[in-house]
Amino acid sequence: MPVTYAELRRRLEEKRQELRRQLDDVQREVREDGVGYSNHMADAGTEVFEQERDLSLAKRMQHTYRNVEVALEKFDDGTYGICESCGARIELARLEAVPEAAYCLDCQSRRELRR
Ligand SMILES: [Zn+2]
Repeated sequence: MPVTYAELRRRLEEKRQELRRQLDDVQREVREDGVGYSNHMADAGTEVFEQERDLSLAKRMQHTYRNVEVALEKFDDGTYGICESCGARIELARLEAVPEAAYCLDCQSRRELRR
């Protein structure tokens, strides 16, 4: 049975909650870790590395979180599932895999090629 838009919305709302929780965790960790308070150079190096890794992870999560929010707003506008670039309906299979997708597969691959 193909997934319904109502089900996709439910999944997006869950995803938003989950991301919000994870973002809070990472941000708390980054704050608490701090850098430069270690007695050993080796530890300090590891901490810097870990903090950078946390920060890039947080950045990626924030990006996804924003996309999820935008997708949820589209339910209210009635534009959910419509490609932002060409206006075509995004394939349900694609939305099932990536419910926050803003572009159809064609437009997405074109955008990735341009990068
Ligand atoms: Zn498109």
